[in-house]
Amino acid sequence: MTRPSPSTRSGIATQAPGIPADLHLHSNHSDGTERPAEVMRRAHDVGLRTVSLTDHDQISGWEEAATAANSLGMTFLPGMELSVRGAKDTLHLLAYLFDPDNAPLMNEVRRVREDRLTRARRIVSRLTPTYGITWNDVTACTADGVTIGRPHIADALVSAGVVSSRAQAFDDILDVRHDYYEPLYSPSVVTAVRLVVAAGGVPILAHPITGPVDSALSTERIAQLVEAGLAGLEVGHRDNTPDGRQILSAYAHTHDLIVTGSSDYHGDGKPNRLAENTTDEAMVERIIAQGNGATPRYPAVGP
Ligand code: AMP
Ligand code: FE
Ligand code: FE
Ligand code: ZN
Repeated sequence: MTRPSPSTRSGIATQAPGIPADLHLHSNHSDGTERPAEVMRRAHDVGLRTVSLTDHDQISGWEEAATAANSLGMTFLPGMELSVRGAKDTLHLLAYLFDPDNAPLMNEVRRVREDRLTRARRIVSRLTPTYGITWNDVTACTADGVTIGRPHIADALVSAGVVSSRAQAFDDILDVRHDYYEPLYSPSVVTAVRLVVAAGGVPILAHPITGPVDSALSTERIAQLVEAGLAGLEVGHRDNTPDGRQILSAYAHTHDLIVTGSSDYHGDGKPNRLAENTTDEAMVERIIAQGNGATPRYPAVGP
């Protein structure tokens, strides 16, 4: 399918000059608190014209989101945020425009989602003696089929009155350093990058430097990831440190990588505001040019 030129994609411009994109949004198909259509409505309300839905290890929100986005005149890029294993801890890899029927990628995603269930049950069983919450309390705050994670356990702790917010739960009880913590099965970041590329997708490392620079993504590591097919870096993200952003910008320059900025909106689940960081149109075009496993969903051509 040939892609219409920007001026003819729709009756209204899909992305007017100066209106950037927010390509990292979560719905209640993972740990966001709003339905995909509601996320799209709010994105439109703040003036966004190009969006993606990037639920954790999950693509089930695409159809609802794409339909809503297009009906509001927005371009929708199918996306996902994959849980992956870094050298020491879990990292997140954004993936855009991959083939949702690609078996090697989607089997791995399914494996991560299944392990999330087992792992969440283990965490909850460790919490039960101290805080009294049970697996039923978690499922009571979680719709069927969603990618379950610590945020849903946090919701159960909030409901039980143990903490007042998800943030407070993560500050202590659900922190990785706590005894209650249980790691998650996930592919190595190099494996995940290769899987996304093989599925025709565009892999972009999410919020890559959030802590001390001396333990951050090294020059050697970024070269290895680029070699595996890493396409870009999410430089504009509230969790990247100021030093981290500088390092990431330098890496992007050295390796000619796509640079994105995003909100990582989670509805009421996090304080992140829609469009608080955004991606320039030129970078959106690069993502679209590289992704060939799925097509962007453009709004219908107007009258
Ligand atoms: P998990 O993937 O189950 O290990 O949980 C990590 C998820 O928790 C990520 O998707 C984050 O978006 C979310 N998360 C991390 N810290 C916080 C926080 N302070 N408040 C709300 N959500 C958080
Ligand atoms: Fe999240
Ligand atoms: Fe993330
Ligand atoms: Zn995210």
